[in-house]
Amino acid sequence: MEINPYEVAKKQLKNVVELMNLDPDIHEKLKYMERILTVSIPIRMDDGSLRIFQGHRIQHSTVRGPGKGGIRYDFNVNVDEIKALAMWMTWKTSLLNLPLGGAKGGVEVDPKKLTFGELERLTRRYTVEILHIIGPNKDIPAPDMNTNAQTMAWIMDVYSMHKGETTPGVVTGKPVEIGGSLGRNRATGMGLFYIIQALVKKLDLNLQNMTAVVQGFGKVGIVIAEELYNIGCKVIGISDSTGGIFSENGLNVKEIIELKINQKPIKDYKKNSVKFLSNPEILTLKCDILIPAARENQITGENAENIDCKIILEGANGPTTPEADEILNRKNIVVVPDILANAGGVLVSYFEYIQDINAYFWDLERINKELKNVLLKAYEEVYHLSKERHVSLRVAAYIIAVSRVAEAIRLRGLYP
Ligand code: NAD
Repeated sequence: MEINPYEVAKKQLKNVVELMNLDPDIHEKLKYMERILTVSIPIRMDDGSLRIFQGHRIQHSTVRGPGKGGIRYDFNVNVDEIKALAMWMTWKTSLLNLPLGGAKGGVEVDPKKLTFGELERLTRRYTVEILHIIGPNKDIPAPDMNTNAQTMAWIMDVYSMHKGETTPGVVTGKPVEIGGSLGRNRATGMGLFYIIQALVKKLDLNLQNMTAVVQGFGKVGIVIAEELYNIGCKVIGISDSTGGIFSENGLNVKEIIELKINQKPIKDYKKNSVKFLSNPEILTLKCDILIPAARENQITGENAENIDCKIILEGANGPTTPEADEILNRKNIVVVPDILANAGGVLVSYFEYIQDINAYFWDLERINKELKNVLLKAYEEVYHLSKERHVSLRVAAYIIAVSRVAEAIRLRGLYP
């Protein structure tokens, strides 16, 4: 059965409403998006034919500041998926106490089937269609699945051409040469790494004696796998959309990154000691740390019983459903929730945004130091609340994040 991510997001919110004594009016307001924009994107393909794609930009909440959230290109994109992702962004920016809200965008397209030129035209036309609702003070997109610094450069260019002034602050995750931030491309993975280091210390474990499995080997999965490998943790399983590989002695992560740089799928990695596995099999491998870093709804009521790890570190947004959460809790598996675990990305996006506004750029040392400080502060807050209230890390993170948004709504009141 297809799981609807928006229903999941609403259920996660509902799960903390009673614990927080949340005003029912505010709960009702938070279930809804502030703005949903769906656009048609007509593109002249390289072969001369015309194709129309559907794109969306959705703002869940701008009560604490401009909307913030990535843009994804994927054949699975739909309004309910983007609504969920926008709501999760509201909680993520709030958990870090950033003066930002939550938004998300997406285009229903299989980008692997488009040429570079077609992708550029798609991005430019999509940008024009959503231009009136984005901007440095309104809503600031960033990369997500299948989008990257080049995509952001095109968006920034279109926006700047229409405004008649170069406006780097309209997107984050741009190339450094046009106002991007050092460290942004590795920020999400580095954030995951800082948090797992802090958590294993608390659990009295040592990464050097531990094993990890990484599902999804893109911008997020590559960095966390590489950092774990460099520190001596055994990465025994890795997958991408084509399937996964497993070696009980640990995979050579550097070689697999090389393969990806050459645009080859994981299944092309051939070694005697390495076994090829399907994506569902990768998730149920026995390991210490399981890192879903691909997409939503990967750990569900169907497979949670078979998950065999100590810690789940959510690199992806929404990889675990509420049904799975209950089972994992019962099995005493520690789940570091997405809105905390992968928040390093939006945090360095925020650093990029303030560097752009101030036209003053920081060095990498400062970026990584501030990333670590802010993220670990949020982590400590979540950890302590979870101990104090005897709740999971997800519930604790939601209590903190939702409280701040609720208070902002209360203070601002209802317009008119
Ligand atoms: P990406 O496009 O760079 O990489 C996605 C990877 O997942 C690819 O290797 C793809 O082959 C793989 N994949 C897709 N479907 C899969 C499946 N069913 N099983 C296994 N692998 C699969 O995307 P990304 O930016 O790394 O984003 C991955 C996840 O992390 C998404 O949920 C995204 O929302 C989340 N996230 C990304 C960032 C960021 O800064 N990029 C920040 C926070 C959260």
